[in-house]
Amino acid sequence: EIKKKNHIVGKTIVTFEDIGGLERTKQELKEALDFLIHSEEMKEYGIRPLKGILMDGPPGTGKTLLAKAAADYTGSVFVASSGSEFIEMYVGVGAQRVRDLFKEAKTLAKKQQKNSAIIFIDEIDVIGGKRDANSQREYDQTLNQLLTEMDGIQSRDQPQILVIAATNRKDMLDPALLRPGRFDRHILVDLPDKNARKKILEIHTSNKPLASDVDLNQIAIETYQFSGAQLESVANEAAIYAMRDKSKEIKSKHFSSAIDKVIMGEQMDRTASQ
Ligand code: ATP
Repeated sequence: EIKKKNHIVGKTIVTFEDIGGLERTKQELKEALDFLIHSEEMKEYGIRPLKGILMDGPPGTGKTLLAKAAADYTGSVFVASSGSEFIEMYVGVGAQRVRDLFKEAKTLAKKQQKNSAIIFIDEIDVIGGKRDANSQREYDQTLNQLLTEMDGIQSRDQPQILVIAATNRKDMLDPALLRPGRFDRHILVDLPDKNARKKILEIHTSNKPLASDVDLNQIAIETYQFSGAQLESVANEAAIYAMRDKSKEIKSKHFSSAIDKVIMGEQMDRTASQ
């Protein structure tokens, strides 16, 4: 039995303003997206459509957020899936799911009368890892189907389809995926620097009652090498500590405990996976 997966079809709107830091990344992405916005003009110049953007960077740095913001920026429908969803015991199921994903994107765009659709594939390395002698046939069929779908995208297609894929192991990808006309735009999504960490903390505390002793700049200094996802956790955990304390406001000490907790959690995860 072939089960159809339900893809997360974005209702939650994310804009570039909701993403802290990553200024250069956002700029680069917007420039690439202008291809989609001006696709009519591109056609006149005979420029081939942009079909794939690869986002590369550590976990939790905002790749999914960027893909959602890209959909908002271009007025596209957003359909998301993850490489691991395509891996099944039965040969052919993965390829069928790839077909369904593209079909779903097109149907949704037509239904919502949008000119374009963005298909987001997280963990692309799961289906697009380098092929070697041991690689399984199922993976190959899935990857081949993805390449076929992307090769089939034409500039006159309505809706225009753009695939955005994310990975934190770009070096592992099959070169076939990276050829011109496939994922030929690469965008680095790196860990936030101090200023970016402060911005991200501002975003995730804007709905929270902060005490006057909380200095987000100082917290940004203390969270060196934290990802956006970890900073979001810090803000959330600090609020939980404050609530448990029956404190009306979130204080500096709650943030200190939250930072410790997030660091501890990471260490536990690391030990568990060793
Ligand atoms: P993964 O590689 O693990 O899938 P990702 O890079 O796709 O991660 P996201 O899913 O976009 O990361 O981020 C997870 C969460 O972390 C977001 O929902 C958001 O709350 C927070 N976050 C990450 N980066 C940022 C950022 N730059 N600004 C604001 N929030 C962020």
